Amino acid sequence: MRFAPCVAIAVSLAAIGVSSARCQVDTRWPQHSMDRPRPPVVDPGPERAPVPPPADAIVLFDHGSLSAWRQHDGSPARWAVDGDSFAVEPGTGNIVTARAFGDCQLHVEWAAPTPPNGSSQERGNSGVFLMGLYEVQVLDSYHNDTYPDGQAAAVYGQFPPLVNASRPPGQWQSYDIIFHRPRFDASGAVTSPARLTVFHNGVLVQDNVALSGPTANKERPPYHATPDSLPLELQDHNNRVRYRDIWIRPID
Ligand code: MG
Repeated sequence: MRFAPCVAIAVSLAAIGVSSARCQVDTRWPQHSMDRPRPPVVDPGPERAPVPPPADAIVLFDHGSLSAWRQHDGSPARWAVDGDSFAVEPGTGNIVTARAFGDCQLHVEWAAPTPPNGSSQERGNSGVFLMGLYEVQVLDSYHNDTYPDGQAAAVYGQFPPLVNASRPPGQWQSYDIIFHRPRFDASGAVTSPARLTVFHNGVLVQDNVALSGPTANKERPPYHATPDSLPLELQDHNNRVRYRDIWIRPID
């Protein structure tokens, strides 16, 4: 695998003894380690009223219709629409967009169930999967301890967020995500890893991190060559997480 610039910088910083570069997976802790330091808590301020999307955005949920979404088998999305939001319907499975996307800017708003129920990974768990492969974790991480690489706004199993900018359950939270898909050469080898920048409630939590491959539980699988675009996916993790105001701007 050829290293992209950020990774190359991290390698050179490591070579001179600087360990603060955060753009590659930090292997000093095992995946899902509970011994890992918790990201500092930052109050992001009160929840915000929704604002209209940019004029050129593709709106993926607006005014009560899940028409942009499907079940994995292509049948209509079976999650529960309630006015201007919708919620995970536990047991129905993940939903995916009808359209496929690659490089993009993505805005998602979500709210964890209230009153909170369960703990750690069983409390307000869902997820936003870019290309159906790379999860930005959705979790109620407000006074809910879990392993840092699985808390809200983690790149699941790879990168804890820089800070914990969670709002309390029941309040609306936002993710603003910049995603660059991995690149592959003609043989299927990775020439550039997937990259994610994430703002949680307006606070920078992932700064152009280079993913080691698809995200997964208890493993870090390698890349395999994929198309340039694949559907966006939301996770059914058996918790009734709500969503609203989802829009995307493909990056050409
Ligand atoms: Mg999840």
